[in-house]
Amino acid sequence: MSDQEADQYPKVVGSNSLYPIVSDHGIIIAYGFWCPGCNSHHAFLLPRWDFNENFDSPTFSPSLSIDASKHDFEMRRCHLYLRDGVLEFLPDCTHHLAGKKVALAPEPKLPKSKEEE
Ligand SMILES: [Zn+2]
Repeated sequence: MSDQEADQYPKVVGSNSLYPIVSDHGIIIAYGFWCPGCNSHHAFLLPRWDFNENFDSPTFSPSLSIDASKHDFEMRRCHLYLRDGVLEFLPDCTHHLAGKKVALAPEPKLPKSKEEE
């Protein structure tokens, strides 16, 4: 997905920053979110990933794996679960959040509606 698409659909759903990515035909084809490990956006494509349709406590399965080494000379991998609104980074991530759990949150530059923990 592109940043342009994200700007086009800035709707924040529930208490987290999961946002729908909509096709030209108005069909939701994916849900995007901010990844604090990569400092970029990732997306779960539908129906390839199962989504529990719970926007307050979203869970996708199976895990999402992004291997940026195909696009970048710098080897980078991001591998995570999103369970109950928490990003669970697996140990094989190459960024600083490997092996950690972080609550899903909006991209930092965006104003937060409220602080939640
Ligand atoms: Zn990531």
